[in-house]
Amino acid sequence: MAVPVHFVGAGPGDPELITVKGQRCIAAADTIIYAGSLVNPALLDFAKPGAAIMNSAAMTLDEVVAAIAGAVGEGREVVRLHTGDPSLYGAIKEQMDALDARGIAYEIVPGVSSFLAAAAALRCEYTLPAVSQTVIVTRLEGRTPVPEQEKLAALAAHRSTMCIFLSVHLLDGVVAELIAGGYPPDTPVAVVQKATWPDEKIYRGTLADIARTVAAAGVDRTAMIVVGRCLAGDYALSRLYAPEFGHTFREAT
Ligand code: SAH
Repeated sequence: MAVPVHFVGAGPGDPELITVKGQRCIAAADTIIYAGSLVNPALLDFAKPGAAIMNSAAMTLDEVVAAIAGAVGEGREVVRLHTGDPSLYGAIKEQMDALDARGIAYEIVPGVSSFLAAAAALRCEYTLPAVSQTVIVTRLEGRTPVPEQEKLAALAAHRSTMCIFLSVHLLDGVVAELIAGGYPPDTPVAVVQKATWPDEKIYRGTLADIARTVAAAGVDRTAMIVVGRCLAGDYALSRLYAPEFGHTFREAT
Protein backbone atom coordinates (compact mmCIF):
# COMPACT_ATOMS: atom_id res chain seq x y z
CA MET A 1 0.00 0.00 0.00
CA ALA A 2 1.33 3.43 -0.93
CA VAL A 3 0.46 5.14 2.36
CA PRO A 4 0.66 3.66 5.87
CA VAL A 5 -2.89 4.52 6.98
CA HIS A 6 -6.24 3.86 5.29
CA PHE A 7 -9.55 5.12 6.60
CA VAL A 8 -11.91 2.51 5.21
CA GLY A 9 -15.69 2.62 4.90
CA ALA A 10 -16.94 -0.74 6.14
CA GLY A 11 -20.38 -0.40 4.58
CA PRO A 12 -23.67 -0.79 6.42
CA GLY A 13 -23.25 -4.28 7.87
CA ASP A 14 -23.27 -7.07 5.29
CA PRO A 15 -19.56 -7.96 4.97
CA GLU A 16 -19.99 -8.31 1.19
CA LEU A 17 -20.84 -4.61 0.98
CA ILE A 18 -17.34 -3.38 1.69
CA THR A 19 -15.48 -2.30 -1.49
CA VAL A 20 -12.88 -4.57 -3.10
CA LYS A 21 -10.26 -1.97 -2.21
CA GLY A 22 -11.45 -1.77 1.39
CA GLN A 23 -11.26 -5.54 1.76
CA ARG A 24 -7.75 -5.52 0.25
CA CYS A 25 -6.67 -2.88 2.77
CA ILE A 26 -7.99 -5.00 5.65
CA ALA A 27 -6.17 -8.06 4.32
CA ALA A 28 -2.91 -6.09 4.10
CA ALA A 29 -3.17 -4.36 7.49
CA ASP A 30 -0.96 -5.12 10.47
CA THR A 31 -3.15 -3.04 12.78
CA ILE A 32 -6.91 -2.56 12.48
CA ILE A 33 -8.83 -0.10 14.63
CA TYR A 34 -12.55 -0.57 14.10
CA ALA A 35 -15.62 1.27 15.35
CA GLY A 36 -16.99 -1.58 17.40
CA SER A 37 -20.42 -0.13 18.03
CA LEU A 38 -21.52 -0.48 14.39
CA VAL A 39 -18.93 -2.22 12.22
CA ASN A 40 -19.79 -5.87 11.62
CA PRO A 41 -17.02 -7.90 13.31
CA ALA A 42 -17.33 -10.44 10.48
CA LEU A 43 -15.27 -7.99 8.41
CA LEU A 44 -12.32 -8.74 10.67
CA ASP A 45 -12.26 -12.25 9.21
CA PHE A 46 -10.56 -10.66 6.19
CA ALA A 47 -7.60 -9.67 8.40
CA LYS A 48 -4.34 -11.58 8.10
CA PRO A 49 -3.34 -13.89 10.94
CA GLY A 50 -1.55 -12.02 13.68
CA ALA A 51 -2.95 -8.58 12.81
CA ALA A 52 -3.51 -6.46 15.92
CA ILE A 53 -7.19 -5.61 16.23
CA MET A 54 -8.51 -2.80 18.44
CA ASN A 55 -12.05 -1.67 19.13
CA SER A 56 -12.25 2.13 19.18
CA ALA A 57 -15.55 2.13 21.08
CA ALA A 58 -13.67 2.26 24.37
CA MET A 59 -10.95 4.67 23.18
CA THR A 60 -10.63 8.46 23.17
CA LEU A 61 -9.49 10.44 20.12
CA ASP A 62 -6.02 10.80 21.66
CA GLU A 63 -5.80 7.05 22.24
CA VAL A 64 -6.85 6.29 18.65
CA VAL A 65 -4.30 8.74 17.26
CA ALA A 66 -1.59 7.39 19.57
CA ALA A 67 -2.38 3.83 18.46
CA ILE A 68 -2.21 4.79 14.78
CA ALA A 69 0.97 6.84 15.18
CA GLY A 70 2.63 4.13 17.29
CA ALA A 71 1.87 1.44 14.72
CA VAL A 72 3.06 3.60 11.83
CA GLY A 73 6.27 4.32 13.77
CA GLU A 74 6.90 0.57 13.87
CA GLY A 75 6.44 0.33 10.11
CA ARG A 76 3.01 -1.27 10.31
CA GLU A 77 0.12 -0.79 7.85
CA VAL A 78 -2.95 0.58 9.62
CA VAL A 79 -6.63 0.42 8.75
CA ARG A 80 -9.07 2.64 10.58
CA LEU A 81 -12.43 1.01 9.87
CA HIS A 82 -15.53 3.18 10.02
CA THR A 83 -19.14 2.17 9.51
CA GLY A 84 -20.91 3.05 6.26
CA ASP A 85 -19.00 5.85 4.55
CA PRO A 86 -16.45 7.63 6.75
CA SER A 87 -17.49 11.10 5.55
CA LEU A 88 -20.88 10.94 7.27
CA TYR A 89 -20.92 11.32 11.05
CA GLY A 90 -17.59 9.51 11.13
CA ALA A 91 -15.53 12.00 13.15
CA ILE A 92 -12.65 11.44 10.73
CA LYS A 93 -11.68 15.09 10.28
CA GLU A 94 -10.19 15.31 13.76
CA GLN A 95 -8.22 12.09 13.16
CA MET A 96 -6.96 13.31 9.78
CA ASP A 97 -5.91 16.65 11.28
CA ALA A 98 -3.98 14.83 14.02
CA LEU A 99 -2.22 12.68 11.40
CA ASP A 100 -1.47 15.77 9.27
CA ALA A 101 0.09 17.40 12.34
CA ARG A 102 2.37 14.36 12.71
CA GLY A 103 3.21 14.18 9.02
CA ILE A 104 1.57 10.75 8.64
CA ALA A 105 0.11 10.09 5.17
CA TYR A 106 -3.29 8.48 4.74
CA GLU A 107 -5.98 7.72 2.17
CA ILE A 108 -9.71 7.32 2.46
CA VAL A 109 -11.56 4.39 0.91
CA PRO A 110 -15.27 5.23 0.61
CA GLY A 111 -18.02 2.89 1.71
CA VAL A 112 -21.71 2.19 1.16
CA SER A 113 -23.50 4.48 3.56
CA SER A 114 -26.44 3.18 5.57
CA PHE A 115 -28.77 5.70 3.93
CA LEU A 116 -28.10 3.97 0.61
CA ALA A 117 -28.46 0.53 2.15
CA ALA A 118 -31.82 1.71 3.50
CA ALA A 119 -32.98 2.66 -0.01
CA ALA A 120 -32.07 -0.81 -1.22
CA ALA A 121 -33.89 -2.45 1.69
CA LEU A 122 -36.95 -0.32 0.96
CA ARG A 123 -36.65 -0.98 -2.79
CA CYS A 124 -37.15 2.71 -3.36
CA GLU A 125 -35.72 5.48 -5.54
CA TYR A 126 -35.00 8.62 -3.53
CA THR A 127 -35.02 10.93 -6.55
CA LEU A 128 -38.36 10.28 -8.24
CA PRO A 129 -39.37 12.64 -11.07
CA ALA A 130 -42.15 15.04 -10.04
CA VAL A 131 -41.78 13.92 -6.42
CA SER A 132 -38.32 14.96 -5.27
CA GLN A 133 -34.96 15.48 -6.94
CA THR A 134 -33.18 16.19 -3.68
CA VAL A 135 -32.03 14.05 -0.76
CA ILE A 136 -31.33 15.70 2.55
CA VAL A 137 -29.02 13.77 4.86
CA THR A 138 -29.31 15.05 8.39
CA ARG A 139 -29.87 14.27 12.06
CA LEU A 140 -31.75 15.62 15.01
CA GLU A 141 -29.67 17.56 17.50
CA GLY A 142 -28.23 15.39 20.24
CA ARG A 143 -25.02 15.97 22.16
CA THR A 144 -23.63 17.22 18.84
CA PRO A 145 -25.33 20.54 18.11
CA VAL A 146 -26.98 21.21 14.73
CA PRO A 147 -26.62 24.73 13.25
CA GLU A 148 -29.80 26.83 13.66
CA GLN A 149 -30.44 27.13 9.91
CA GLU A 150 -30.39 23.31 9.61
CA LYS A 151 -33.03 22.54 12.22
CA LEU A 152 -35.31 19.76 10.98
CA ALA A 153 -38.30 22.11 10.79
CA ALA A 154 -36.36 24.43 8.46
CA LEU A 155 -35.24 21.54 6.23
CA ALA A 156 -38.78 20.15 6.17
CA ALA A 157 -39.95 23.18 4.20
CA HIS A 158 -38.40 21.58 1.08
CA ARG A 159 -40.49 18.40 1.42
CA SER A 160 -37.68 16.56 -0.30
CA THR A 161 -36.61 13.02 0.46
CA MET A 162 -34.96 13.07 3.88
CA CYS A 163 -32.67 10.49 5.46
CA ILE A 164 -32.28 11.07 9.17
CA PHE A 165 -29.36 9.48 10.99
CA LEU A 166 -28.75 9.05 14.72
CA SER A 167 -32.26 10.07 15.73
CA VAL A 168 -34.58 7.08 16.01
CA HIS A 169 -34.53 7.25 19.83
CA LEU A 170 -35.98 10.76 19.45
CA LEU A 171 -38.59 9.88 16.85
CA ASP A 172 -41.40 11.82 18.55
CA GLY A 173 -39.31 14.98 18.29
CA VAL A 174 -38.40 14.23 14.66
CA VAL A 175 -42.05 13.85 13.71
CA ALA A 176 -43.09 17.02 15.56
CA GLU A 177 -40.42 19.11 13.81
CA LEU A 178 -41.15 17.67 10.37
CA ILE A 179 -44.87 18.40 10.66
CA ALA A 180 -44.21 21.86 12.11
CA GLY A 181 -41.88 22.52 9.18
CA GLY A 182 -44.34 21.63 6.44
CA TYR A 183 -44.61 17.91 5.69
CA PRO A 184 -48.28 16.84 5.72
CA PRO A 185 -49.02 14.28 8.48
CA ASP A 186 -49.85 11.65 5.84
CA THR A 187 -46.28 11.82 4.42
CA PRO A 188 -44.88 8.27 4.20
CA VAL A 189 -42.06 7.34 6.57
CA ALA A 190 -39.98 4.20 6.87
CA VAL A 191 -37.60 3.19 9.63
CA VAL A 192 -34.97 0.66 8.61
CA GLN A 193 -33.19 -0.97 11.51
CA LYS A 194 -29.83 -2.65 10.88
CA ALA A 195 -30.09 -2.45 7.10
CA THR A 196 -28.29 -5.40 5.41
CA TRP A 197 -27.66 -7.22 8.73
CA PRO A 198 -29.29 -10.65 9.18
CA ASP A 199 -31.73 -9.12 11.67
CA GLU A 200 -32.70 -6.15 9.45
CA LYS A 201 -36.20 -4.85 10.15
CA ILE A 202 -38.41 -2.39 8.28
CA TYR A 203 -41.25 -0.38 9.78
CA ARG A 204 -43.49 1.65 7.50
CA GLY A 205 -46.14 4.25 8.25
CA THR A 206 -46.84 7.95 8.01
CA LEU A 207 -45.69 10.89 10.08
CA ALA A 208 -48.97 10.51 11.96
CA ASP A 209 -48.35 6.96 13.18
CA ILE A 210 -44.71 5.93 12.76
CA ALA A 211 -43.61 6.96 16.26
CA ARG A 212 -46.21 4.67 17.82
CA THR A 213 -45.25 1.73 15.58
CA VAL A 214 -41.54 2.11 16.23
CA ALA A 215 -41.98 2.61 19.99
CA ALA A 216 -44.13 -0.53 20.16
CA ALA A 217 -41.37 -2.47 18.38
CA GLY A 218 -38.78 -1.12 20.84
CA VAL A 219 -36.42 0.24 18.15
CA ASP A 220 -34.06 2.73 19.75
CA ARG A 221 -30.77 2.51 17.85
CA THR A 222 -28.99 1.69 14.57
CA ALA A 223 -31.86 2.76 12.40
CA MET A 224 -32.39 5.08 9.45
CA ILE A 225 -35.47 7.26 9.22
CA VAL A 226 -36.53 7.86 5.61
CA VAL A 227 -39.19 10.47 4.96
CA GLY A 228 -40.91 11.56 1.80
CA ARG A 229 -43.36 10.87 -0.95
CA CYS A 230 -40.76 8.81 -2.78
CA LEU A 231 -42.04 6.02 -0.53
CA ALA A 232 -45.55 6.37 -1.99
CA GLY A 233 -46.61 5.05 -5.37
CA ASP A 234 -47.17 8.21 -7.42
CA TYR A 235 -44.50 9.69 -9.69
CA ALA A 236 -43.78 10.71 -13.28
CA LEU A 237 -41.81 8.43 -15.62
CA SER A 238 -38.16 9.42 -16.05
CA ARG A 239 -37.14 11.50 -19.06
CA LEU A 240 -33.93 9.48 -19.41
CA TYR A 241 -35.74 6.45 -20.83
CA ALA A 242 -38.62 8.29 -22.55
CA PRO A 243 -38.77 7.36 -26.27
CA GLU A 244 -39.07 10.97 -27.47
CA PHE A 245 -36.16 12.16 -25.35
CA GLY A 246 -32.82 11.74 -27.12
CA HIS A 247 -29.41 12.11 -25.51
CA THR A 248 -25.75 11.42 -26.21
CA PHE A 249 -26.22 7.65 -26.27
CA ARG A 250 -29.64 7.28 -27.87
CA GLU A 251 -31.56 9.21 -30.56
CA ALA A 252 -35.14 10.26 -29.96
CA THR A 253 -37.77 8.19 -31.77
N1 SAH B 1 -20.91 6.70 8.55
C1 SAH B 1 -22.14 5.97 8.79
C2 SAH B 1 -23.04 6.65 9.81
C3 SAH B 1 -22.50 6.67 11.21
S1 SAH B 1 -23.59 7.42 12.35
C4 SAH B 1 -22.86 5.74 7.44
O1 SAH B 1 -22.42 6.26 6.41
O2 SAH B 1 -23.84 5.00 7.44
C5 SAH B 1 -24.49 6.05 12.95
C6 SAH B 1 -25.92 6.09 12.46
O3 SAH B 1 -25.97 5.59 11.13
C7 SAH B 1 -26.89 5.23 13.23
O4 SAH B 1 -27.42 5.91 14.35
C8 SAH B 1 -27.98 4.99 12.21
O5 SAH B 1 -28.82 6.12 12.08
C9 SAH B 1 -27.16 4.89 10.93
N2 SAH B 1 -26.83 3.49 10.60
C10 SAH B 1 -25.60 2.93 10.57
N3 SAH B 1 -25.67 1.65 10.14
C11 SAH B 1 -26.98 1.41 9.87
C12 SAH B 1 -27.70 0.29 9.36
N4 SAH B 1 -27.08 -0.85 9.03
N5 SAH B 1 -29.04 0.40 9.21
C13 SAH B 1 -29.68 1.55 9.51
N6 SAH B 1 -29.05 2.64 9.99
C14 SAH B 1 -27.72 2.57 10.18
